[in-house]
Amino acid sequence: INPTAFQHLYQQRKDLYQQLLLLRSQRNALSKAAAAHQKQQQQQQRSKKPSSSASASAAALASNTRERSIQQAQVLKADIKKYELELEAIEATLMTQALLVPNAIHADVPRGDDPVVLKQIQGDDRHKSNNNKDGWKPLDHVALNEKLGFMDFQQASRVTGSSFYYLQGMGAYLELALIQYAMDKAVQRGYLGILTPDIVRTSIANACGFQPRRGESQQMYRINNGQTATGNDDKENGASSNDDGGGLCLTGTAEIPLAGKFMDQIVPQVDLPQRCVGFGHSFRMEAGGRGVETKGLYRVHQFSKVELFAVTTPDQSDALLEEFMALQEEIFTELGLTFRILDMPIQELGASAYRKYDMEAWLPGRQKWGEISSTSNCTDYQSRRLSIRYRPTHPTQDNTLFCHTLNGTAMAVPRVMIAILETFQQPDGSVEIPKVLQKWIPGQPTKITP
Ligand code: AMP
Repeated sequence: INPTAFQHLYQQRKDLYQQLLLLRSQRNALSKAAAAHQKQQQQQQRSKKPSSSASASAAALASNTRERSIQQAQVLKADIKKYELELEAIEATLMTQALLVPNAIHADVPRGDDPVVLKQIQGDDRHKSNNNKDGWKPLDHVALNEKLGFMDFQQASRVTGSSFYYLQGMGAYLELALIQYAMDKAVQRGYLGILTPDIVRTSIANACGFQPRRGESQQMYRINNGQTATGNDDKENGASSNDDGGGLCLTGTAEIPLAGKFMDQIVPQVDLPQRCVGFGHSFRMEAGGRGVETKGLYRVHQFSKVELFAVTTPDQSDALLEEFMALQEEIFTELGLTFRILDMPIQELGASAYRKYDMEAWLPGRQKWGEISSTSNCTDYQSRRLSIRYRPTHPTQDNTLFCHTLNGTAMAVPRVMIAILETFQQPDGSVEIPKVLQKWIPGQPTKITP
C-alpha cells in the first residue's frame, strides 16, 4: 500500500461524498418546488375563476417554473448517478487496499528469515531398528504405495486432474481413523465438534485474511455460475473487479466457515472462550507451488482436515494459542511421530496471524522435515472484519468489544499419513498402525500389509 495514494483516495472519497450529499439535497429541493408549483396550478384550475389576464400569466409562470425545476432535477439525477458510480469505484479500491493491511505482530515473533525451533520430539521410529539390516532403507510413500496399493493417483488424474487421488481399502480407513481420532481428542477436551460447509462466500474468506481473487497468490478455487474457476482470468470467470461479496469459493480451510459461524454475533463474556473442532475439506490451487512435489500426497488440491478454532477475550488469546499447541503436540506424540515445533518469523505470518507456530514431522522416505500443522492467534483481525463481539461482564466504556480468534490444524490427513507410512514401515512393505488409531479401524488391525 502506498500511504500517500491511499490518503489521497480517501480524501477524494470524502469530497465526493460531500458533493453527493449536496446534489441530493438540491434535487430534493427542486422536487419539492416542482410539487408545490403543481399544487398551486391545480388549486387555480379548481377555483374556476373567470380567467383574467393577470391570473392567466400567473398560471403560465407557475407552469414554466415547474418545467424548469423538472429539467434541472433531471440533470441533477444524471450527475448524482455519475457521482454514485465514481464513489462506488473509489470505495471498492479503498476496501481492496484496506484488506491488504496485515495484523499487528507479537513482540516475540522471530525477526530473522528463519523460524526458531522451540522443541524437538523424538518419535517411535520403528524402521530405525531395521535400518541397517541388509542395507534396508525406508521407502518414500509413493514407492511404498506400489506395494500397498491404497492410493490411486492415476485414475483420479483421469477423472479430475493431476494432484487428486482416491484412497481405497486401508488407505480410506486410515484417513477416517485419523479424522475420528483427532475429532475425538478435541471433543474430549471440551471442543464442540462441527462438520463445516466446503463452499463459502468469497467475502467471508476475504474477511478471514484469504484473498481468493489475488493473482499469483490466489490459493482458492472460485465458483462461478456453478462452475469451479481455476484460472486467474476474471473476465473469463465473469467476475467484475469488485466482485467479492456475492461470489462463492471452495474452502481453503475449515477455519473460514468456523470463523463465519460467529459472524455478527455478540457473545456474553461469561460464555468465552468458545472452542470448536471442525472437520471439512480443504481445496488449494497450489498455483505454481507444486514444483518437485508432483507425485504423491504431499501437495494436493483437495484434502481432509480437522481444524481447531476458538473465539475468546483478548486477555486469553495468548494462553489459548499455547493450549492449541499443547493439544497438537499431544496428538503427534501419541501417533509416535518425530517432529519439531517452530516459532514462525514475520514473513510467514500471512495477513491474519499475530503469532504462529508450525510443526514439522520427519519424513524418513523423503529424508526431510515436512510441515504437518500450523496454529495462529489472529487477535481481532478476523473479528473486526466479521463483526464478532463480546459483551463485557463489567463494561467500562464500550458495551461490546471485539473478540480474538485462533485456529490450528489438529489433523491435515495427507501429510500425517505420509509421516505414518514412512515412519512405521517394515522391510516386508507392511506398516505398523499407531496404537491410538487402531480402535477406529474395523477389526482393529495392528498392521497394514501389502
Ligand atoms: P495451512 O492452512 O496452509 O497452514 O495448512 C495446514 C496444514 O495443511 C499444513 O500444515 C499441511 O499439513 C496441510 N497442507 C497444506 N497445504 C496442503 C496441500 N496442498 N496438500 C496437502 N496438505 C496440505
